[in-house]
Amino acid sequence: MISRQLENHWDEFLSALEGIEWTTQPNQVAKLSQDYFHFSPVLQPLLGEKRADVVVFPLNEAQVLRVVKACVAYKIPVTVRGAGTGNYGQCVPLEGGVVLDLKNMKTILEIKPGWVRAEPGAKLAQINKLASEIGWELRLLPSTYRTATLGGFIAGGSGGIGSILYGWLGDRGNFLAAKVVTLEEEPQVLELRGDEVQQVNHAYGTNGIIIELEMPLAPSYPWAEGIIVFSEFMAAARFGQQLGESDGLIAKLISIHAWPIPSYFTALQPYLLDEHHAVLVIFDQNAMEPLEDLVNEFEGKITFLSCRANKVLNLGEFTWNHTTLHARATDPNLTYLQSRFPSDPKLELVQRFYEHYGEEVMIHLEIVRYQGQVSPCGLQVVRFTTEERLQEIMGDLQNHGIAIFNPHTYILEDGGSRTINPLQVNFKRKVDPYGLLNPGKMRGWWEMGEEGGGVNPYL
Ligand SMILES: Cc1cc2nc3c(=O)[nH]c(=O)nc-3n(C[C@H](O)[C@H](O)[C@H](O)COP(=O)(O)OP(=O)(O)OC[C@H]3O[C@@H](n4cnc5c(N)ncnc54)[C@H](O)[C@@H]3O)c2cc1C
Repeated sequence: MISRQLENHWDEFLSALEGIEWTTQPNQVAKLSQDYFHFSPVLQPLLGEKRADVVVFPLNEAQVLRVVKACVAYKIPVTVRGAGTGNYGQCVPLEGGVVLDLKNMKTILEIKPGWVRAEPGAKLAQINKLASEIGWELRLLPSTYRTATLGGFIAGGSGGIGSILYGWLGDRGNFLAAKVVTLEEEPQVLELRGDEVQQVNHAYGTNGIIIELEMPLAPSYPWAEGIIVFSEFMAAARFGQQLGESDGLIAKLISIHAWPIPSYFTALQPYLLDEHHAVLVIFDQNAMEPLEDLVNEFEGKITFLSCRANKVLNLGEFTWNHTTLHARATDPNLTYLQSRFPSDPKLELVQRFYEHYGEEVMIHLEIVRYQGQVSPCGLQVVRFTTEERLQEIMGDLQNHGIAIFNPHTYILEDGGSRTINPLQVNFKRKVDPYGLLNPGKMRGWWEMGEEGGGVNPYL
């Protein structure tokens, strides 16, 4: 069923789109209206039936401007889509309207040592491939790097492979500049540089359509992959933390999994042991001997080294939220948490919660750099019983000083910082005065009062 905004102006809207690819084919529209929110049993019933009315595929800036002008003229909601790998329903259109799929705007415009400029639909893996030809790579990658787009990573993601070296996308310097299209009667293209980029960074596409980005690159090492197993969980966790703190040992991924999580990694079974905990690492292969010494110190056992085995297992695709994906492939009743433990070399809180919850909350940690310190982020795998129990567990962690990034909400501020970011809300007032962009996702838009906030149709 076409939403009321489009129903009255369908013919005019379509004539405005002349020459631009679009579809209303129900299966395609259904597919392109969804993402990975099904990881959450709380979000599944809320978002499963949401559909756009039409999906539009612009090829370039001029086409984006034409689509946007028509949407503003008829007050049609616009939800931008990259590859749709977000896991909180970020690109699900709550009010129907247009899904603006930017997959065709994928040109990597310019690349040089330390720097790349690209269109938002460029795949992260493509950028990395090109960068590797000159000895560089993206600083940060989500574990979905093969499919995710650059625009989607900036607007919907936060960090991942590389976060132990470079921190988070929100850290100053990890996102350099963007061109953003506004949703005004006469849409403009704004250029954001320096701190201005934070206005659209991780804003779920609620306050501007990013049509070009500049990103820093990192020098690339001859990376090797390794799997290390441990009979004691805390030895695995402390090994990971120590590796993160070892300034001379360069690693870009340190991913720790309490048993039985390793049993969910079907393709890695030849390298995993029953009842053993596993640490997956990507490290500078020149550091193989020092790494082996560290493994011995913590009484671990190396079961796979890509440089010795002469093959790669793409271990990144078993880490971050791919761990949840593999766990749910075995048992769809499993769900997850997202959290950050305070920096503590002894990992006392990790131990406490490992012992307290046992297999109800299975510990999965990613060692990261946060505000200059090495600390573990938890993407715990949870045996779901009820929403109340899930909230109780999150509350318990929070009461012990563990930061929760709730993955069971589609509202921007409720998932991450838990505070309204006036910078992002004010920017939305300027660039999206009618509140057409991804409506229903930004709490600040309806809570910041009469001076410009909109009305939340879901309250
Ligand atoms: C298995 C799995 C593993 C994951 N691992 C990680 C991880 O390691 N790290 C991490 O940070 N995330 C992770 N994610 C989440 C997600 O994959 C990433 O954030 C990814 O980068 C999103 O890219 P995308 O192109 O799929 O964006 P989409 O899902 O299409 O979009 C994400 C958000 O950005 C908005 N958006 C997209 N393009 C634009 C644009 N050009 N302008 C404005 N807004 C835009 C959308 O409206 C939406 O709100 C994971 C998800 C899954 C399912």
